[in-house]
Amino acid sequence: MADHAIPHHPSTAGRPGASAAAEREADAWHRLRNAHGFIFDMDGVLYRGDQPLAGVSDVFDALAVRGRRFMLATNNSMSTPAQYVAKLARMGIDVPEDVILTSGIATRDYLLQTLPPSSGIFVIGMPGLREQLFTDTAFYPVQYGEERAQAVVVGLDLTFDYAKLKAANEAIRQGAIFVATNVDATLPTEAGLVPGAGSIVASVSTASGRQPVVIGKPETPLVDQAMRHMNFTPDETVMIGDRLDTDILAGQRAGMLSVLLLTGVSTREDVASSPTPPDLVLTDLPALVDALAAAAPMATDGSLS
Ligand SMILES: [Mg+2]
Repeated sequence: MADHAIPHHPSTAGRPGASAAAEREADAWHRLRNAHGFIFDMDGVLYRGDQPLAGVSDVFDALAVRGRRFMLATNNSMSTPAQYVAKLARMGIDVPEDVILTSGIATRDYLLQTLPPSSGIFVIGMPGLREQLFTDTAFYPVQYGEERAQAVVVGLDLTFDYAKLKAANEAIRQGAIFVATNVDATLPTEAGLVPGAGSIVASVSTASGRQPVVIGKPETPLVDQAMRHMNFTPDETVMIGDRLDTDILAGQRAGMLSVLLLTGVSTREDVASSPTPPDLVLTDLPALVDALAAAAPMATDGSLS
């Protein structure tokens, strides 16, 4: 199992400091095996495109057998949790809807904590984001020129145009809070990298001269909400992802153990040159299943036995 792990500072092996690095690594393994809650990124961790990755069912079984909880957290705001459940089911991965946390739902929950229940919101985003913001809330959509919005929410919008930019700018200058679902510069598609929500957020930010509250990774609201949903503390929680600049950074900022899987975007070479390397690097989900094999079982009262 040790060959799955990369110490914090591989270059220090055999030199002064190596024992400190080894100690940190041993501590990371201990935290992984004793963690109560696991937050997984999805694309590049559980599947790639529409192909499930090896070990997905095994890892959920291994967590369930040991009484661990998990959440699946994504920066994507365009699909609802129900749509993710359906997408995962098509790949043979069965999870309940309440373990899925999208940046759309996390944005809704941020607004519920921040604004009066019945607030008008100007949205730049796709129908899936509107559905997540306006279903089961008293929030209502504000159209440009109708009335003042209390919040401007910006996500990925494939029909973004100057009129929407102008409306968002005006609402923010009139006092609306500015919230971004995520600031991903691009997103990978079969046709290559296309502009992501961050590109649209940047234009609204440039026009209004204001910085948004960012919900998605690498900021912490999304992963904090996933953790709170499980009722755990950062010490008890692990963030598992495939990107150093989003998943791992968010986990670190939130004070969680961070574990990089090498089945997606970031590579061992990226880890070696990263200023903020993850606590542990595992090759893939089967390596995580192996690690969990040594995990302590959890008693029915939630304590580790
Ligand atoms: Mg990913």
